[in-house]
Amino acid sequence: MGQDRSHHWTPDEFRAHGHEVVEWVARYMEEVEELPVQTSVAPGWVREQLPPSPPVAAEGFADVLADLDRVVVPALTHWQHPGWFAYFPTGASGPSILADLVSSGLGVQGMLWSTSPAVTELETHVLDWMAELFGLPERFRSRGDGGGVIEESASGATLCALLAARWRAAGDGPFDRLRAYTSSQAHSSIEKAVRIAGLRPDQLRVIDVDAADDHAVRPDRLAAATAQDRAAGLVPFFVVANLGTTSSTALDPVGAMSEVARAEGAWLHVDAAHAGSALVCPELRWISEGIEGADSVCVNPHKWLLTNFDCDCFWVADRSALIGALSVLPEYLRNAASESGAVIDYRDWQLPLGRRFRALKLWFVVRSYGAEGLRRVVRDHIELTQTFAERVAAHPLLKVVAPHPLNLVCFRHVGGDEPTEALLAALNGTGRVFLTHTRLDGRFVIRVAIGAQATEARHVDGLWELIEQHAQ
Ligand code: PLP
Repeated sequence: MGQDRSHHWTPDEFRAHGHEVVEWVARYMEEVEELPVQTSVAPGWVREQLPPSPPVAAEGFADVLADLDRVVVPALTHWQHPGWFAYFPTGASGPSILADLVSSGLGVQGMLWSTSPAVTELETHVLDWMAELFGLPERFRSRGDGGGVIEESASGATLCALLAARWRAAGDGPFDRLRAYTSSQAHSSIEKAVRIAGLRPDQLRVIDVDAADDHAVRPDRLAAATAQDRAAGLVPFFVVANLGTTSSTALDPVGAMSEVARAEGAWLHVDAAHAGSALVCPELRWISEGIEGADSVCVNPHKWLLTNFDCDCFWVADRSALIGALSVLPEYLRNAASESGAVIDYRDWQLPLGRRFRALKLWFVVRSYGAEGLRRVVRDHIELTQTFAERVAAHPLLKVVAPHPLNLVCFRHVGGDEPTEALLAALNGTGRVFLTHTRLDGRFVIRVAIGAQATEARHVDGLWELIEQHAQ
């Protein structure tokens, strides 16, 4: 006698509810513009809507879906709203969403090549495609010693790069004399990676930027710091160049930094988490000049390139250091394919063992948009940004405070921090837009990042009208 399986959905039930869910998501896409970008729920509101204990008996799926509207949507910050100008955007698109559905439907784990060859080989191939699309040097392609992998985040990629660099410099030995370097504008994930890797805070040296100009790292300061450390018997082992800082899209001089890194035998990692997506446009590749001297690069298509979180493309020029740092082989994972040396096992390229079929979403996106479609997305956002920046620059009460080569404008009120903070609060208070802030040279600055898939010229015009109304 077989077991009773009536508590599982049949494929027909899945089909029916699947259609309902796709319909629900499509309706959300149509209606998100009408919702306030930020929620106004008080802390604890969501939990108050939920029963204290889980259901004992199965509930109808209609009730689950209804609670999306009742409990979840009212408590969301709507990252896909066309009035999203905060932080950086988070990518989403039809092909990417459907690919994630397929990935869940297949439910496979790609930790080893042998646990699903398609997961590994599609990923290797799509990462080679992405390297070509971004104009990255041949050394990052999988044909030679290098290759790419999808990490869950830029933070994870930077940590893996640091661990590979530490392995190259010190192997399993002590590493208290090693020193890492990045700019004062670097993303917090660099400092976090240093901490997670067990380095002391003083093993990360923060290099000055050119504050009066573009907030990019000063390579002479980097060279001075590494020389000073070397003279003191320390070992410069890891340098992070920021290709598009989070605060202001400052572009560190990768070429000059790679010369310093090479002279010291240090690993150069390029954090191009957001701005790297611009490299799909050949006319923008000047931003990565000198990248052939880098040892690793990461770019998040889950920010600006239409791909749902999580998708960070991470390339290394020499995969042996990464594998050396991260490979631990227990008996239960041994298999003939791995031992043949003919396959990639991506478990050795990342922190966790298990991994989702993430390459599917990048594959769906690249094929559905084509290189031309991706370039249009980037070019349209940059054009909107430049027009917006011109308007800010022409306003008597506002001042653009940093170069804006891509899709981020930083500006402030000429009256100082107080009116700038008041302007930001007034804009966000309308519910029609969401902007965030940073500090540059000690001053409070409003950031406008234009990169949400739904944002069109009319939405940026709308933002400008609000600014004109509220800037006083
Ligand atoms: N690096 C830069 C320059 C970023 O702007 C960000 C996030 O905004 C990150 C790293 C961290 O990205 P992730 O969330 O993928 O770790």
